[in-house]
Amino acid sequence: MPFAKLGLSSPLVQAITELGYNTPTPIQEQAIPAILSGNDLIATAQTGTGKTAAFVLPLLEKFSHAEALRGKRIRALILVPTRELAVQVEANVAQYAKHTHLTSMAVYGGVDTEAQKERLIKGVDILVATPGRLLDLAHKRALHFDELNVMVLDEADRMVDMGFVDDIHKIIERLPEDRQNLLFSATMTDDVRALAYDFSDSKMTDLA
Ligand code: AMP
Repeated sequence: MPFAKLGLSSPLVQAITELGYNTPTPIQEQAIPAILSGNDLIATAQTGTGKTAAFVLPLLEKFSHAEALRGKRIRALILVPTRELAVQVEANVAQYAKHTHLTSMAVYGGVDTEAQKERLIKGVDILVATPGRLLDLAHKRALHFDELNVMVLDEADRMVDMGFVDDIHKIIERLPEDRQNLLFSATMTDDVRALAYDFSDSKMTDLA
């Protein structure tokens, strides 16, 4: 099945074709239409299955039809457990968004917050973040979540293992209640499932 059949329009299809993607992977075939429909989603997906594109492409599709936002506002927050993953996911977002007007940025610990704050002031559509640094920046009032539509938890099992559950709850308290929630995990434990059902009170597509 071609990507266009999943509901992706030409700026995205062009970007992924340039990257050499011809056919969607199984997780992409299932997740892209579900996410475009607006449902919350919980999915088991290992690294290497194409899971990043499975959630990034439908987000870009939705936002590419929306008007530009002004100032510090953020449309989607992608939470990841590590700095390495933040860098890698944001690089994918930037590649897929190449032919759209959408912008992205990664924030993570171990680097100066001031430079991150300055960049955030200009506004960013899609923010990829580790939980600790995100909370630091939120305390410094560098983030505005009032236009946030989607929250993604990527590698949720690792986030649970690394002790980020409390931070995730603190972050969720700052987000608008009316939003789409997506959770991806390599393994599906009771803790991960509980986390997903904790923050989701709408219709959920369960691919776990
Ligand atoms: P991920 O599971 O997100 O870590 O992705 C694994 C790798 O597969 C990444 O290098 C992607 O660029 C690549 N990839 C993702 N989707 C596709 C696709 N449909 N066709 C070919 N390669 C893909």
